[in-house]
This record gives sequence, structure tokens and C-alpha cells, in this order.
Amino acid sequence: MASIFSRIVAGEIPSYKVAEDDKFFAFLDINPLAKGHTLVIPKREVDYFFDLTDEEIGAMQIFAKKVATAIKEAFPCVKVGQAVLGLEVPHAHIHLVPMQSEKDMLFTNPKLKLTAEEFAEIAQKINSCLPQ
Ligand code: 5GP
Repeated sequence: MASIFSRIVAGEIPSYKVAEDDKFFAFLDINPLAKGHTLVIPKREVDYFFDLTDEEIGAMQIFAKKVATAIKEAFPCVKVGQAVLGLEVPHAHIHLVPMQSEKDMLFTNPKLKLTAEEFAEIAQKINSCLPQ
């Protein structure tokens, strides 16, 4: 059974896509800590982030860097924080969260409730800041 994130990549479950290449996919977290909170995943389904190959981690980090740069341009912040947890969804992913302060990275914080229109607008805004 494919993970929920593999089903998102396959288009079987809708998502607010931010970026994609042949190996990686970035989309908005559905329970965001902040506007612009994005997940970056490898298309190859691996549960534990540190079970990815060295090459995959390197390439994924470079892909995440491009997305983080676009997030920072779209949603001005002090820095974009990065976290790997993976306790809920068994498909390796990097969280990218625009931070105004350290507390914005607390995963116990209440999550934002956004409308479909807001999610779509955020994804489009980040996507438009990516190099074309
Ligand atoms: P973690 O596995 O890193 O602890 O958390 C998984 C993250 O994936 C959570 O922040 C959660 O909101 C997000 N998430 C879980 N299911 C979905 C989904 O179906 N769509 C999207 N866009 N995000 C999800």
C-alpha cells in the first residue's frame, strides 16, 4: 500500500503543489505552523529520512534549498527553518517553515486553519518565486 504522500505525488490525493522535478515533490503542509509551511519529499518511498542514500539526501537538500529560497521571498521572514520528524507519516520529508522567531518551529503550536483559496494562493505565490 502506497503512503499517503506517494498517493499525493500520483495525484490520487489532492495537494497544493509548490514544486516538482523527476525525483522530488514539494507541497503545502495541510496543518501549517505558518503560511508557507511546505513539505519536501523524495518520490521514492522510504520511511526513515536517514535510510535515504547519500546521493538522495544531497539532491533532496539542494531541491529543498531552492524551495526555501522561494518561500523566503514569498513570505518574508527572519529565516526558513528546516525540520525532519516523520513520526506521523512514514514517508521521509523535510518541513520548511518561515520563522519570525524560534517558537515558530514548535510542532506543538496550534496549526493555522486556512481556506482552500488561501492554500492555493500561498502555493502559487511560492511557485512564482522559483527560478523558471
Ligand atoms: P511528521 O510525520 O513529520 O510528524 O508530520 C507529518 C506532517 O504531514 C504533518 O505536519 C501533517 O500536517 C502533514 N500531513 C499529514 N497528512 C497530510 C496530507 O494528506 N496532506 C498534506 N498536505 N499534509 C499532510
